[in-house]
Amino acid sequence: MSEALIEVNWKDFREHLPTADQQGKRLWLYPKKPEGRFYQYRKYVSWLLLAVLFVGPFVRINGNPLLLVNIIERRFSILGRLFWPQDVAIFAIAMLLYFSTIILFTSAFGRLWCGWACPQTLLMEMLFRRIEYVIEGDSVAQRALAAAPWTAGKTVKRLLKHGVFFALSFLIANTLLSYIIGTQQLFHIITDDPRLHLQGLFFMLLFTALFYGIFARFREQACTFICPYGRFQSAMLDENSMVVAYDHKRGEKRGHPTAGVSAEGLGDCVDCHKCVAVCPTGIDIRNGTQMECVNCTACIDACDSVMDKLRRPRGLIRYASHNIIERGEKQRFTPRMAGYSVVITVLATVLMVLVFTRPDIDATVLRAPGALSQMLPSGKIENLYTVQLINKTSRDLPLDFVLENTPGIIQVMGAGKLMAPAERLTQTSLLIQLSPNLLHDGRKKLTIGIYSNGRLVETVNTAFIGPRNL
Ligand code: SF4
Ligand code: SF4
Repeated sequence: MSEALIEVNWKDFREHLPTADQQGKRLWLYPKKPEGRFYQYRKYVSWLLLAVLFVGPFVRINGNPLLLVNIIERRFSILGRLFWPQDVAIFAIAMLLYFSTIILFTSAFGRLWCGWACPQTLLMEMLFRRIEYVIEGDSVAQRALAAAPWTAGKTVKRLLKHGVFFALSFLIANTLLSYIIGTQQLFHIITDDPRLHLQGLFFMLLFTALFYGIFARFREQACTFICPYGRFQSAMLDENSMVVAYDHKRGEKRGHPTAGVSAEGLGDCVDCHKCVAVCPTGIDIRNGTQMECVNCTACIDACDSVMDKLRRPRGLIRYASHNIIERGEKQRFTPRMAGYSVVITVLATVLMVLVFTRPDIDATVLRAPGALSQMLPSGKIENLYTVQLINKTSRDLPLDFVLENTPGIIQVMGAGKLMAPAERLTQTSLLIQLSPNLLHDGRKKLTIGIYSNGRLVETVNTAFIGPRNL
């Protein structure tokens, strides 16, 4: 980071982006490679999460993908359970739960998600940035390479870096596609004649270009300008939220006695700027909590290493709330957090009940439009029904229909037993015959049980209509 940029940050950092100069021109960041215990922990977490991300599309539970969000065909699989657009209540509750959890999480732990689990941060800091360090070296070497004239060596390094970046972007694009269309469909796009999958190939290249643009060029700006979470976190945080924070009470007045400054009145911050040098978003955390901070902990590690050398306690920059630093309070579970926790518990319970009591079959039985009831020679009355069935499982289900609340005859037209194909919508017709004496005012409410291999899988209600005056 240039001296001029540091000057801008310190004086009026709220009015200026750390990555733009006074004319609004992008200032490219060369963050120093972080080292320390938090970086080490984040590496372990990132290996685990990246493994889940890349292996996820190949994992099957009960024959279904671990996660599939097929918006095109409106098929969804979460933890191996298939969901359909008809499961709208489950989606609504899941969305409410998702947003409530984010709000609670941010309220309690700030942007812990951004620093430790967000795919953007994981891929940028733990994959692309580390490849950059391997090819171009640490911050100083990168800066020197950028300023150096174009030589064969620089060209090779840049080609190698961008080649690897493009290949990785292609891999990430394919991973994303496999979460949308499934691995089998993706395999067809890759192995079939390209002319058969022009649309699929277009999206594959589009996503590749998008990811390459984000990780090779756009970088930290995705968090600052595009991600809505970074924007609304300021509304979620309060004085008890844990964030990566500088202990200004302990640190100020900053300065180093050997730099011609008297040791008297100085705090623990020696103004070495190491916390700024490692920051991937270019900010100075000593200015306070800022929108750009993704809570990556790099500045904690950098400052701890300085404190170790000075034989002073670690934690001048640490996870702490405003009240911990300002008033010396302990971390509190506030009424706001308690309220969010209750909401989340209720929503999670409702979601679990809905998911685990969700029937395998979704059925609608309606009287066939335009069809009138008929009096049969046997003296019974007959009605025709149309049936729509969605088999939400990944196996074909043989189905039987049973009148649950009244004696009568029910039969599938053209077949004794209906076979509902897996993950498909099926339509059929039903004939139902009742004795006239079961009707009141020409009507009878019917409850139909749908059984598969002797197990009740769904119950539906419909109406039986007959002549009023018999
Ligand atoms: S790394 Fe620590 S000591 Fe150095 S400037 Fe940052 S807060 Fe001060
Ligand atoms: S201020 Fe610290 S925690 Fe925040 S983004 Fe910069 S280095 Fe990461």
